[in-house]
Amino acid sequence: MYNHRRIIIAIVFAFLSNSVLLAAPKQDQAISQQRSMKYTSRPKEDARTWQEEVRAKLFLLLKMDNSLQGRNSIPFSAKELSRADRGTYLIIEVEINSTSSRRIRVVVTIPNSKDKPVPAVVCIGGHGSDLYSPYDPKTIVGQGPRKKTGSIYKEFGTVLTETGYVTISTTVSQHEVYEKDRLLMAERLWDLIRCVDYLQSIAEVDNSRIGCAGLSLGGEMAMWLGAMDKRIAATVSAGFLTTMDHMEQNHCMCWKFEGLREQVDFADVYSLIAPRPLQCQNGMLEPASQFYVPLARRAMEEIRTIYKDLERPENVILDVHGEGHVIDLPGLIYFFEKHLYENRWKQKIYDMRSKR
Ligand SMILES: [Zn+2]
Repeated sequence: MYNHRRIIIAIVFAFLSNSVLLAAPKQDQAISQQRSMKYTSRPKEDARTWQEEVRAKLFLLLKMDNSLQGRNSIPFSAKELSRADRGTYLIIEVEINSTSSRRIRVVVTIPNSKDKPVPAVVCIGGHGSDLYSPYDPKTIVGQGPRKKTGSIYKEFGTVLTETGYVTISTTVSQHEVYEKDRLLMAERLWDLIRCVDYLQSIAEVDNSRIGCAGLSLGGEMAMWLGAMDKRIAATVSAGFLTTMDHMEQNHCMCWKFEGLREQVDFADVYSLIAPRPLQCQNGMLEPASQFYVPLARRAMEEIRTIYKDLERPENVILDVHGEGHVIDLPGLIYFFEKHLYENRWKQKIYDMRSKR
C-alpha cells in the first residue's frame, strides 16, 4: 500500500514538474514561432533574396520606405559652426539637413595625411551620449554644454582619425520622436544614413571604404546602419550582441517597435550585413543581465550561418575581450585596418622588407 501510494505521488509529481518545466520553453517557442523571417541555411542566391525581402520589410515597419526614395533631393545646406586644426587632423562641427524640415549637428574629423582619399567611419555613442562622446576631450570644438566624454568609448573616434580615417558623429541617444508619423529607431537610423550621405560629399572620403562602429545603443545602431545601408563596408558592433528575449528585461525598451519581434531577432538583423565584414565585441565582465558573452556566442552561431552560405565565413567575428561594457580599441583598430586599409599595411610591410 505504502509503495503504491509512493508510485502515484511520484507519477503526479513527475507530471506536475514536467508541465512546469515545459511552461517556459513553450513561451519561448511561441516567440520564436512569431519570428517568421528567421534566417535558415539556404543556397547563395536565395540568401541574397532573403536579405532583400527582410530589408524591405524592416524599412516598411520603420515607416522609412517612402522617405528613402526622396532622400537625394534633400540638400544638406551645410552650415559650419566651428573648426579647429589639431595638427594631425582637422575637426569641423557642421549643421546639415537630415530631413527636409529637420536639421542635425554633426562633427567631422579629417586627417591631415597626404594620402587621399581615405576610408571613413561613422562613430556612434550609446545612451546618454552626444556627438562628441566617441572622441578625446581635446577633439571638441563647438560651444555649449557637453555631456562628458566617457572612457567606455576609449576615444575611438580620435584614435581612428589620428591613424588616417575621416570620422563623422551625430547624436542618436534621444528618446523623443522629432517629427510626426515617425518612429524613434527610424529617426536614429535616418540621421546615421544621412551621415553616410554627408561623408560621400566630402572630397577626402573614399566612398567604397565607409565603415561604422558604436558601443551599447551605439552598437545597436551600428547593427542597424550596417544592415540597412549597403554602402557600409565594415561594421563594428560593440556591447550589444544578444537576443530580443534577453532585451525584454533589464533594458531600456527603446530598441523595440511594432512588428519587429514577429519578423526577426537581432541575429537576423546582423545577418543582413553578410557577406560584408562584421565584428561584434562583447566583454567577459558583462554580467548575465547585460550583454552576456554566452548569449552573444549563441547569437553569433546564428549569424555565422549566412556568412557560410555566402561563402565568406571569415568576414564575421565575435571579439570576446577581457573588459566589461566598453570598446575593445585594439580589436576595433585591427578590424578596420584589415578591412578598410589593407593596402596601406601591405605596402608598409613590403617597404620594410625591401629596405632590409
Ligand atoms: Zn533607450
